[in-house]
Amino acid sequence: MREKILKYGIIGRSGRMGQEIESVFSQAGHEAVLSSDLAGMECWGKPEVLMDFSSHAALAGTMELCRTHGAALVIGTTALGEEHLAALKTLGGETAVVQSFNFATGVNVLKMILRDYAPLLADWDMEIEETHHNKKKDAPSGTAIFLREAAGRDCPTHSLRLGGVPGDHAAHFANEGEVLSFTHRALSRTVFALGALRAALFAAGAEKGFYTFEDVLRGTR
Ligand code: NAD
Repeated sequence: MREKILKYGIIGRSGRMGQEIESVFSQAGHEAVLSSDLAGMECWGKPEVLMDFSSHAALAGTMELCRTHGAALVIGTTALGEEHLAALKTLGGETAVVQSFNFATGVNVLKMILRDYAPLLADWDMEIEETHHNKKKDAPSGTAIFLREAAGRDCPTHSLRLGGVPGDHAAHFANEGEVLSFTHRALSRTVFALGALRAALFAAGAEKGFYTFEDVLRGTR
């Protein structure tokens, strides 16, 4: 069966992720009808879903656009605070919102593994390591924070900013006799855009609510 064609908007269109999303969505035949970034906003249609990969500074405007157009929201922007997440949960009472600090399938499976099994290693040392490109603004990465939260414990987190790395994460555990490491590498930004597309198709068909990418992977609407 042919996939639904989405009318979508991008907040942060001129950015690295905005460009990647535009490329993946247009190759799949979806239609951009709204574009916003620091240079301004253009709208030439009614979006069903907005993709926000920009900055927390854009969030109030993004939520207003969702309300104006009755659009669902997929948001991958990192460095969101508790107040931003609370506002997104409120928006989830009005429309479908999918929020994730990482739209790669493997990282979300790693999150589930840590949630289920890290408690068995509660008396082992745990440290998280993340490497990203040298233009990334926040540290530690949003993904490192959500992996730490999934493990249910605070632990040292090390951030490297090197060249063009799209995103590497590792959770290391050790006691006196064993070392156990889980690692994930995104080989390009395309994986995030493909995950964001999957989330957008989910959100466009979902009831109002606040969803994670785990809900998207499990098909829980
Ligand atoms: P970038 O700096 O290349 O692009 C940022 C874009 O946001 C630009 O187009 C800029 O004009 C726009 N922008 C910034 N402030 C704005 C505002 N107040 N209003 C409107 N537009 C604004 O950054 P990037 O590498 O594309 O990353 C963007 C965000 O996505 C970051 O928070 C990054 O951490 C996150 N990210 C998330 C995932 C994920 O899977 N969730 C993956 C990669 C990046």
